[in-house]
Amino acid sequence: MDHVPFKHKRTTLERAEKFISPDYFTDINLRSRLYTDQAGLESIQHYAAPDRVPYTKAMEGKYQPAHLGQSFGPVWSTHWFRLEVVIPSKWVGKEVHLLWNSGSEALVWCHGEPRQGLSGDNNRISYIISYNLDAADLQQTVYIEMACNHLFGIGNLAIVKTDDEKKTFTLSQAELAVFDRDVFGMILDIEILHDIAKEFPEDSQRGYQALYAVNDIINHLDVRDRSTYRRAQEMAKTFFHERNGQSQHTLYAMGHAHIDTAWLWPYAETIRKCARSWSCTLRLMEKYPEFIFTCSQAQQYAWVKEHYPTLWQEICLFIQKGQFVPVGGTWVEMDGNIPSCEACIRQFLYGQNFFLKEFGCRCKEFWLPDTFGYSAQFPQILRHCGITRFLTQKLSWSLVNKFPHHTFHWEGIDGSSVLAHFPPGDSYEMKGRVGEMLKTVKNFKDKGRSNRSAFLFGYGDGGHGPSEDMLERLQRLQDCDGLPKVKLASPDEFFSSIERENTNLLCRWRGELYLELHNGTYTTWAKVKKYNRQCEVLLQELEAVATMACVRVPDFPYPHEELDRLWKLLLLNQFHDVLPGSSINQVFQDAVGYYQDIERSANALINKAVACCAHSQASEQHEMYVVNTQGYARHELVELPASELAAPAHKKRRAQTNSQLLDGSHLVEVQVPPLCIKPISQCLVKQTEEDLCSQLRLYKEDDHFVLSNGQVRAELDSLGRLVSLTCFDKRTNSNQFILYDDVPLYWDAWDVMDYHLETRQPIVTAIERTRVISDSSNARVSLEFSLKISEESYLRQEIFLDACSPYVGFNTEVTWRENRKFLKVEFPTTVHTTQASYDIQSGFLQRPNHYNTSWDSARFEVCGHKWADLSEHNFGVAVINNCKYGYSAVDRVLRLSLLRSPKSPDPQADMGVHTFSYAIMPHSGNLQEAGVIHAAQSFNCPLRVVTSGADDLISPALFVLDTRQVLVQAVKMAEDRSRTIILRVHEAYGGSTKVKVTTPLPLLAVHPCNGLEEALHDWDQDVGIHFVHGDQQCQFEFTLTAFQIISLRCVM
Ligand SMILES: [Zn+2]
Repeated sequence: MDHVPFKHKRTTLERAEKFISPDYFTDINLRSRLYTDQAGLESIQHYAAPDRVPYTKAMEGKYQPAHLGQSFGPVWSTHWFRLEVVIPSKWVGKEVHLLWNSGSEALVWCHGEPRQGLSGDNNRISYIISYNLDAADLQQTVYIEMACNHLFGIGNLAIVKTDDEKKTFTLSQAELAVFDRDVFGMILDIEILHDIAKEFPEDSQRGYQALYAVNDIINHLDVRDRSTYRRAQEMAKTFFHERNGQSQHTLYAMGHAHIDTAWLWPYAETIRKCARSWSCTLRLMEKYPEFIFTCSQAQQYAWVKEHYPTLWQEICLFIQKGQFVPVGGTWVEMDGNIPSCEACIRQFLYGQNFFLKEFGCRCKEFWLPDTFGYSAQFPQILRHCGITRFLTQKLSWSLVNKFPHHTFHWEGIDGSSVLAHFPPGDSYEMKGRVGEMLKTVKNFKDKGRSNRSAFLFGYGDGGHGPSEDMLERLQRLQDCDGLPKVKLASPDEFFSSIERENTNLLCRWRGELYLELHNGTYTTWAKVKKYNRQCEVLLQELEAVATMACVRVPDFPYPHEELDRLWKLLLLNQFHDVLPGSSINQVFQDAVGYYQDIERSANALINKAVACCAHSQASEQHEMYVVNTQGYARHELVELPASELAAPAHKKRRAQTNSQLLDGSHLVEVQVPPLCIKPISQCLVKQTEEDLCSQLRLYKEDDHFVLSNGQVRAELDSLGRLVSLTCFDKRTNSNQFILYDDVPLYWDAWDVMDYHLETRQPIVTAIERTRVISDSSNARVSLEFSLKISEESYLRQEIFLDACSPYVGFNTEVTWRENRKFLKVEFPTTVHTTQASYDIQSGFLQRPNHYNTSWDSARFEVCGHKWADLSEHNFGVAVINNCKYGYSAVDRVLRLSLLRSPKSPDPQADMGVHTFSYAIMPHSGNLQEAGVIHAAQSFNCPLRVVTSGADDLISPALFVLDTRQVLVQAVKMAEDRSRTIILRVHEAYGGSTKVKVTTPLPLLAVHPCNGLEEALHDWDQDVGIHFVHGDQQCQFEFTLTAFQIISLRCVM
């Protein structure tokens, strides 16, 4: 035997690399033997489809000859290919692949069925015609549906570069080949041994064992001599079969294909992405019965069911087998900050109901791997929807602070908690490589408390999912000494195994899971945010009014189907790249269309329901009705439209109203009970000398305007800035617009960086100085001014104060044509405090208003909903808005984020005219007692005025609650279509309370239920409902703890 030289680690590793390299020595290395024989196709025929057409339509197309090297486009177009496949007879009994690379995404169709996705991007270019070719299958016709886009859309890297509209896609490979499965396996053996040798620590015995093993295999293997293969395979197997001890960490490996429901591609392309990804997955499941794939988002399943019926059948089969596992429970993987509580509950309602109806199962885990932060209300929302577990990995993206746990109890604002897990490998796109496994174990922060973690493998974001090499790696490393054990498993098996450990050892994290990145997404694409807020309110209003109609007119057709359709559109647009504003422009065109559809349909249905309530066949009179869809009595101004007042029937009404606006509409002061429709004549507040209206003033003092109404006094300068407000004795410049530079490091539409705060530029150039619009002869006083933001951008603002209002309002119109600038409005106050409060989903959250620690300062821009508040003992200032979500508070200054101007991935983002409203509300006492929460709710849901046929019989208040501490968040007919009303309330102030509900409905029973509207039989003793029949009234009462959400089934 020759003397063996000392093994140099680097040269040995590189020797192994070259032996399986796709780039070096490919004429003689092992990879060169992967395909042993090749043959061309008999013919390639091409049809340029006019759109994304279904298969049957594609079959009617005119096909022309096409050839290798031919380019196809434009971007987003679809091309169909008919391939005549004639396989050489000598290949019978062999594994035969069709190799197709059009540099784009594609889908293989055989016999009219989608068979498998292809993609040039991840080198998924082979479609297995047969593992063992039969002589009867030598001739076949195969169709390929080519989509002119990459996995990540059409940009080179659309994250930093904008889309390349001129791009074309070239057919570089189209042939048949014989695949050598032994070679494929040995390539993986060598790769894994190489990786172990490379990744293990320098002083590791096991690492050197792998180094010598891989070297021996290469010495032994003659790639041209198959007789040497077996021994090489056994050498590898021997190494992989050297087992761990029992204490080794276990990875629960789950197949995964993150498919963004829209992002760098439109919704329509996602439908096809699902077919391409999931068909690949099914082919793998056929070959690997132990392979388990997790798949979220009911909407994507619904698309596949509609568009790909045969694929759907196959998926159903593998769901039954437990290999294809629905997960998440939601309609889509939504944004985690912006959607309302009710919208989040509907994500689960529609998601879980879909999974139950189609597959007879519900998901047990909330699955949101890629969303940009998670509301502190989620634990309760999940619990309320029957879910106790949560998985994400996105917090690993935080820029400043490392989150201290991977497996922990996550507790929300109400004290509910769920078991949460972050895969410690910091990715939902693992490939099964040795380095990823070692990283997972090394990173795992809960060692000693738990000994297992999730390992999500498969290409993602643009879909695609697991590939065969990943499964082969995981198979080899199931129990290989020195590496974590690998178990192919479902999320349920994983979480159950944690639950069997001692969960008392696990740490607890209270409050939100704040992502220290992507915090520009609370503001980007302002129109989508505005539509979202409006449509969330609108659908809740529609449900309330339609329920009133159902009660009043028993045969009123409650619009179940249309509500389903509209909610699903809204939920779809809450996907985590749509609502955050981080998609390409095409996506927003679709999204805005969906929102307009919701608005059109919901408004028409509301009018129909009101008309149904009010209609009297005997009467030809018309009457105006005030509609209060909220669960508390209101005292506000309503706007009577000019068109309605012009009608002869309203002559008397015109005389009663004293406040005419510029457009001819009138403002009148009304008082309205909760949840009711009432003729306006019964709501008008009769004016007396002591009335609030009569205290409304607008006058000039020196060069300042003063607005006051007895509750609020505001002093404004010529630039529209509040220089003084009730209880502020200092001179401040509140309502000061600020422009910041907004150039992030990388993710343009997503990120605003902390350094933007250092570029503060107050906007102080007036175009028109403050002037009076409406004086105190009216129920509203208002001023107007305009400012120049830059050479391209300007704004106009109306500042108003209503007779009976606790706040000063600002109606704003901005013409915005900036590049990487950020517009905010700033409210310096005199409040002394260490924290600010922010409205979130059915509750509020406190965050520091200082930068004491790195965790505090990383939250320089945060998400809030309808209001934010700075309060000290007995005094505070709230800022209310009707469509904004970004805030920052530092020391005494509260800022509301208004508009951004990122250029990627959508160069048009936020360009154009925007309208939005906000208000500043000074208050005494705390924010709860001062009515900030109710004022903000009303600000977002103005009283409606609907004209309809007159009738005396009008819906009385549907539910009256005896405390303002409990807010009604939904009143709707039950999903099961019984004569049952779902009443959902939450405790809004952050303290426990008892509430008594009075209703004119002759209720038969009231049961607590969950967010999915299932009765909770074991809950009665906690809620303690006392059900009393009175004279034409029912009452029931129950107790709520701080921020508790309770849903009730009220059976009629
Ligand atoms: Zn995503």
